[in-house]
Amino acid sequence: MTETLRNYIDGAWQPARGAALLDVENPSTGETIAQVPLSERKHLDQAVDAARRAFASWAAEPVARRCEPLRRLAALMREDMEATSRVLTREMGKSLPDSRAEMKRAIENVDIACTAPLVQQGEKLVGASHGIDGEVLRVPVGVFGVIAPFNFPAMVPFWFVPYAVATGNTIMVKPSERVPSTMAHLASLMDRCGFPAGVVNVVHGDRAVAEALSEHDGVDGLSFVGTTRVCRIIAERCARTRKRCQVMGGAKNHLVALPDANMDQVIRNMVTSCYGCAGQRCMAASAIVCVGEATHEEVVSRFVQASREVRVADPLDPAVADEPMVMGPVISAQARRFIVETIEKGCAEGARLALDGRDVRVPGREGGHFLGPTVFTDVRPGSLLHATEIFGPVVVILRAASLDEAIGIINDHPYGNGASLYTQDGYAARRFKLEARAGMIGINVGIPAPVASLPFGGMKDSVWSDIKAQGRAAFRFYTDEKVVTERYWAS
Ligand code: NAD
Repeated sequence: MTETLRNYIDGAWQPARGAALLDVENPSTGETIAQVPLSERKHLDQAVDAARRAFASWAAEPVARRCEPLRRLAALMREDMEATSRVLTREMGKSLPDSRAEMKRAIENVDIACTAPLVQQGEKLVGASHGIDGEVLRVPVGVFGVIAPFNFPAMVPFWFVPYAVATGNTIMVKPSERVPSTMAHLASLMDRCGFPAGVVNVVHGDRAVAEALSEHDGVDGLSFVGTTRVCRIIAERCARTRKRCQVMGGAKNHLVALPDANMDQVIRNMVTSCYGCAGQRCMAASAIVCVGEATHEEVVSRFVQASREVRVADPLDPAVADEPMVMGPVISAQARRFIVETIEKGCAEGARLALDGRDVRVPGREGGHFLGPTVFTDVRPGSLLHATEIFGPVVVILRAASLDEAIGIINDHPYGNGASLYTQDGYAARRFKLEARAGMIGINVGIPAPVASLPFGGMKDSVWSDIKAQGRAAFRFYTDEKVVTERYWAS
């Protein structure tokens, strides 16, 4: 019997009565592991009503009191780390070490949200004018929604939920319909932490309920993470319905290798960046730019060899479960088809397929959506292979004659989430930091994903709003700045 998930609304588990059900698959085996309800507008309305009812009293709680359930949650998440990581790996397909790392980052965000008594403080200007003071209050906004992608089913909702509630708002999460069990599991932990009913709600469903959420009059703000195609739609809807929004989209992250880079370290670092999570991280690198012919020759031969050695397996297979660099499947048959078609188009446009992962099979897991590492060389900047977010274990290698040309390749690309430079030269690193147009820059770090106390977010088509996730940015997003100008006359 597979479990049918329920919504978590108003502090209780509620079946989404009348909703169609969708199978949730283990991408390593193709087996159905749960069914998720495709909630409708009426189910969402229940959650919005609960969140609205809960808002006034939650906002009026002292800030330190609002952090108490969050502290309990962080402790529970730590205790439960292994169980949650297994739920995550089973439905998403990333390695167990990757799931544990994801959980750690989620917990880190809870810890940082608990600094609200300090970070939510406003400002006061004594003497703004004669006998007049100016004061900036950071007050809660209201009811928020989160629409999450499939690739980080724990971390992405936790970029938002802890900050929203710590600052006095109430919230609804719509997990990805492809990986809903992780958030359901985390909601069962939240249920034990003493949040008042309606403060945190989880409504399952697909794009239909996400569309309703992004247009709902009872929702004041929305955090969306997903493909750039959907970002545009969400940003327009939020503007139309006057919601504040954080809208974060797709990526194609570049790694630039300079001739002076420490190549032993670089190749290892590139492999984990490109193939961790089967290339389905928004910070995964998928384009390598080699500066100079000698660098190109060395990177191509060593990277292709290292790629060939990546182990492709079911990440829950006990033989590999604790290996840091094991590559699981991509999320679905449909995603696999798209990646294979893009590889075919890449061949047709003249790139050289230096390593072909299309025929990789994992014995005993014939129903899984596996692909092996795939590497293209002789890729032209701006070609389909270079321009497309493939979101799988497919890497393109490009040439550049100079650092300027490499930066130009990054800056001409529509996406700008992350970009990294490998070098020992501080002058080159400084130029890269300042000139490469990407929101998150790595210097000898292939996945420059910032820790929870720092802002997370890209540039260009990787972001459709002007405020980032995590850290202080999250405190700003979830509070209204109310400015008071006050004076008292002598009585
Ligand atoms: P997706 O856009 O297909 O879906 C994301 C969410 O939006 C899901 O919950 C889905 O149900 C919902 N949705 C789908 N169509 C919708 C519509 N028309 N209206 C409203 N909601 C809709 O994305 P995905 O495939 O789940 O996630 C992968 C994408 O997310 C990649 O592009 C990746 O780069 C991106 N991502 C970006 C970041 C970042 O920080 N920029 C982080 C993680 C993932």
